[in-house]
Amino acid sequence: MNVPLLDLSSQYAPMKEEIMAVVSEICDSQRFILGPKVEAFEKELAAYCTSGGAVGVTSGSDALLIALMAEKIKPGDEIITSPFTFFATVGAIVRAGATPVFADIDPVTFNIDPAKIAEKITPKTRAIIPVHLFGQAADMDPIVKIAKEHNLFIIEDACQAIGAEYKGKRVGSFAEYGAFSFFPSKNLGCFGDGGAVSCDTAEREALLKIYRNHGQSKTYIHEYVGGNFRLDALQAAILSIKLRSLDSWSEARQRNAAIYRKLFADANIGDLISLPQEAAYPVRHIYNQFCIRVAGGKRDALKQYLLDNGIGCAVYYPLSLHLQECFKELGGKVGDYPECEKATAEVLALPIFGELSADQLACVVDTIKAFAAR
Ligand SMILES: *Cc1c(COP(=O)(O)O)cnc(C)c1O
Repeated sequence: MNVPLLDLSSQYAPMKEEIMAVVSEICDSQRFILGPKVEAFEKELAAYCTSGGAVGVTSGSDALLIALMAEKIKPGDEIITSPFTFFATVGAIVRAGATPVFADIDPVTFNIDPAKIAEKITPKTRAIIPVHLFGQAADMDPIVKIAKEHNLFIIEDACQAIGAEYKGKRVGSFAEYGAFSFFPSKNLGCFGDGGAVSCDTAEREALLKIYRNHGQSKTYIHEYVGGNFRLDALQAAILSIKLRSLDSWSEARQRNAAIYRKLFADANIGDLISLPQEAAYPVRHIYNQFCIRVAGGKRDALKQYLLDNGIGCAVYYPLSLHLQECFKELGGKVGDYPECEKATAEVLALPIFGELSADQLACVVDTIKAFAAR
């Protein structure tokens, strides 16, 4: 049996007609950039995230960057974030001219540890970027408290976590900004690249809209140097259609996670495999990824075994960001962030998308059990 890590074709099939109709409508209108489809989606997204506003942009990476630009981040500014995240989180900080400062993760949630943030604050600190990794919210209450105490702003990196909740409230609504990605493999994916910034106030929303269009406040009058960060109408229209099904897809992922938990408990291989843990605080985990830990240095061998047996899996992420070649000048070294480094050696993402069958889930666990018995 083949079990892909992700296959969106069965999600697309029932929506195909509706999507094709709107694509055709937009092609007929020949109005491709921003416009009413983007505005409609922005309203729907802000309502979904319970944020003050939302601004559609070109990608999740640019969502992070544009928020930093709107805050006039400059060289010398320090921004605290997790070393265990997709590259874009830290790439945006450097692209904005600032210095990333890492704080190690909580091994239970894989998210930034608030106690470690407090140790990293200096007079140069301007912001914190917590990442809601794999679809589970970071511990926002203490993070917001630290930010208030030190007069910092926060950008939630919610690129993997649309619809996730912390203590009953949606991510992207806890801070000045939230960054969302609609890369096809995220829980809400468009048909290309796309992203959005959520924000708390109408003032920030207006400023972000100026920045996404070359800092242009009136036609050809440039108040700031922004960029071309505009979302297209085709992507926005597709996202509006898909957003209506997002909760059912996220619930299907949660169901699959619960099935895995039962299957793994029955397989009795707990000395080799640890399952992703839910946080001690109340969360709605949307399982963009279901990342197990593999003990005894066997992660890479298990990964190869699964791939050889037709089961998709992937390592998010194999190298802590403080050890990346391109950040060498920051002086990071092995041992600086032990929990992150341990995670990079142990994690393995298994197929979790909503359309997987019970047989496919059982096949994944049976194959891991066979590996454990070798
Ligand atoms: C996907 C992702 C991004 C970047 O989003 P793109 O739309 O691919 O640019 C940023 N941060 C995290 C945590 C992500 O998973």
